Amino acid sequence: MTRRPRATIRLDALRHNLQVARRAAPRARLMAVVKADAYGHGMVPVAEAIAGEVDAFAVASPGEGLALRAAGIDRPILVLHGALDAGEVAAARAARLTLVVHHPDQLALYLAGAAPEAWVKIDTGMGRLGLPAETGAAACRRLGAACTGVLSHLANADLPGHPANARQLARFRQATAGLDRPRSLANSAALLSAPPMHFDWVRPGLMLYGASPLQGRTAAELGLRPVMRLTAPLIAIHRRRAGQAIGYGGTWTCPEDMPVGVVAIGYGDGYPRHAPSGTPVHVGGVEVPLVGRVSMDSLCIDLRGCPQARIGEPVQLWGDDLPVERIAERAGTIGYELLCAAGARCERVWR
Ligand SMILES: *Cc1c(COP(=O)(O)O)cnc(C)c1O
Repeated sequence: MTRRPRATIRLDALRHNLQVARRAAPRARLMAVVKADAYGHGMVPVAEAIAGEVDAFAVASPGEGLALRAAGIDRPILVLHGALDAGEVAAARAARLTLVVHHPDQLALYLAGAAPEAWVKIDTGMGRLGLPAETGAAACRRLGAACTGVLSHLANADLPGHPANARQLARFRQATAGLDRPRSLANSAALLSAPPMHFDWVRPGLMLYGASPLQGRTAAELGLRPVMRLTAPLIAIHRRRAGQAIGYGGTWTCPEDMPVGVVAIGYGDGYPRHAPSGTPVHVGGVEVPLVGRVSMDSLCIDLRGCPQARIGEPVQLWGDDLPVERIAERAGTIGYELLCAAGARCERVWR
C-alpha cells in the first residue's frame, strides 16, 4: 500500500496522444509544449520519452530550456517568454535555445548584441504577449537571418465556433503575408478543430497529457488517453448516523445511517478545495461522491455505493476511470490547473 497520494504518469499514453496530434496535423511540424514541468507530468521524463518523435520542444523560460539541455535533450527548444536581460540572452545562445521576441524592448535587447535566434510573436487579439501585429514583419526583417519563425496565440480556441478565432486567423495571415518564415498559430484546441490554423508548426500542450482542450468534447471522444492517474489510499471507514455532519463547517450531513470513507489527499496535495459535495471519485470499480469540504490532507466520500471498500484501498481522484475535466468543471477550474497542482505536490512515478 502506498500511503502518500501518488500521480502515476503513463508514458505509453503520452506517446499515444502524440500520435493523435501527428495524425490530426500530418503536414505540420510539431513542438511539444512542456512548460510548467510538462503540466505537472515531469518535464525531463516527458521530454526524454518523446524526444525522438517531436520536431521541437516549447518551454516558458530560459531556465526550463537549460534544464532540458542539462538532461541531454538536443532537439530545438523555443522559449515562449524569451529573455529578460543580456545574461539570459547569452545563456540562451550558448545553449542553442530559440528565444521568442514578444515586446519592442525585448527586440532592442536582442539587437543590442549579436542577435540570438528568435521567433517573432505577434498579438492578433489575445491581448497578452506579442508585438503589435502590424509591426511583426518589420521586427522579423530587422532580425534578419536570426528570425526563424513567427507565431501568435489564440484566446478562444477551446470554442472553435467563436468569432474571435476567425478574426485572429485573418490578422495572422495578413501580418505574416509575404514573410518567408515558418508560421505557427495552433495550440491543442486549434490543432484538433481547425486545420486552416495548422500552418508550418503546431504547438500542442494539454492534449499530449490526455485532457480535452475543447469545451463540450471529452478526451475519449477525441481519442486521447489520460497520462496522469492520481490516487490516494482510503485511511478510514466509519459508520455514520443519520444527521451526522461531515467535515469543516458541517456543510454535508448524512441522510441516513451510512458508511463514510476518508481518503488521504486534500488541497495541500493539489486536489481542489472548491470541489463540492457530489464531485466523483473512483473506488473499487465504482464512482462515489465526495461529501463535505475538502481538507488540507484528507477528504470524505460517501461509500453507500461501494460497501465492499476496505481500508488501504486506492481511490482514484482522476485518471483513466475519471477524466480530470469532470473534476475541474465541478471545482470551477480547468484541467490544466489541476494537473499542474497535483503534479507539483504529489509523489510521481513514471511508467
Ligand atoms: C501553453 C501554450 C501552448 C499550448 O497550449 P495548449 O492549450 O496546452 O495546447 C501553445 N502556445 C503557447 C504560446 C502557449 O503559451
